Amino acid sequence: MRKLAVLFVLLLATGLSAAEGPIAIRAARMIDGRSDAVIAPALIVVEKNLIVSIGGAVPAGARVIDLGDATLLPGLIDTHVHILLQGDVTQDDYDRQIFRESMAYRALRASRAVRLALGHGFTAMRDLETEGAMYTDVDVKRAINEGVIPGPRMQVATRAMSVTGGYGPNGYSPEISYPRGVQLVDGVENARKAVREQIGNGADWIKVYADRSYFLLKDGSLSSIPTFSAEELKAIVDETHRLRKKVSSHAMARPGLENSIAAGVDTIEHGLSIPDDLLDKMKAQGIWYVPTLTALEYVAPGRAAEGRGIWGELPKFHRDTFARAVRRGVKIAFGTDAGAFPWEYNAAKEFTYMTRGGMTPMQAIRAATSMAAQLMDIADQSGTIETGKLADIVAVPGNPLQDITALERVNFVMKDGVVFRYGSDE
Ligand SMILES: [Zn+2]
Repeated sequence: MRKLAVLFVLLLATGLSAAEGPIAIRAARMIDGRSDAVIAPALIVVEKNLIVSIGGAVPAGARVIDLGDATLLPGLIDTHVHILLQGDVTQDDYDRQIFRESMAYRALRASRAVRLALGHGFTAMRDLETEGAMYTDVDVKRAINEGVIPGPRMQVATRAMSVTGGYGPNGYSPEISYPRGVQLVDGVENARKAVREQIGNGADWIKVYADRSYFLLKDGSLSSIPTFSAEELKAIVDETHRLRKKVSSHAMARPGLENSIAAGVDTIEHGLSIPDDLLDKMKAQGIWYVPTLTALEYVAPGRAAEGRGIWGELPKFHRDTFARAVRRGVKIAFGTDAGAFPWEYNAAKEFTYMTRGGMTPMQAIRAATSMAAQLMDIADQSGTIETGKLADIVAVPGNPLQDITALERVNFVMKDGVVFRYGSDE
């Protein structure tokens, strides 16, 4: 039996693969994404790209990876990212990427983003629009699937939709025409057509921006301007469901949330200020909440400093909504809006915000594993460590139930039975 060990050595893209015979992974403990119990010690056997046994014997001839005092977990899943965006705290950060970077250059930067995400332990991600880079996310997904570049399993939303006047870049002369960060769609017929076009070009999800321009009402509550009319939004959802896909809706405050819930969207993104009555409607309709706490905490100070004062107010609404959503039992999936912050910044910071906001460490881990897999409709193959599931497995040093920041120090990543990362770079 050959023993592969030596932790704390950076070994990216090891080429170690269970396609060439079984690999047994040992660690002090395991969280399987399903049960509340921690399994200790842990032993997982992987053959080809599948988990074939848990807690059994090491098969003859298997290579053994012994991770020592570490915790094995299902590969992490981020259900809200933008791989074509490399940080947009200020308006200028955003406009520079749209106007000064070709789509080819943005694709190259995206290939780096997905590699960093996989190294941080994210083996699946849902990308929620390319911010002006058209269908480039479909190409990045294809490059990953065909083994051209390493990266997580992707579902992509392509261009997203808003209405005329509803999405930036803004503030340029009306005499010049220039690309916007989304497809602008007005009217019911155009809405249906845009859905058909995006799905025809490879969209797994339809993403809508249901509101914009956040402001405070006299009573101190947060409000917004809705983008689509109720009829337009209903047409988008109806057409998407007719084509057997799902709708993700950016909705921050009551006007956008009410339209989204009435139209029957499948996921609400950000949801900075969701009143209790709407949380209850979401729960009753089974609509997911994807809070993206990390991005807001990251971008809000910079945006407020730029003169957009409302951004200084937003984090407190967000924290309050998150805590109420947890208490009321709304389905919550882990999603960070990575890309709004740079990809070097580890999106696993979200775990800290989630536990600060009232989730137990186990609830937060489940939000990023089995719950996120349910949101993406891949729970039959991903999101838990179970026999027969895909071998997407990560490890963190120590016990993340005692120190949630351990999830920011992933030191082993296997995706599809292939070891991508083995060791720490600290
Ligand atoms: Zn986003």
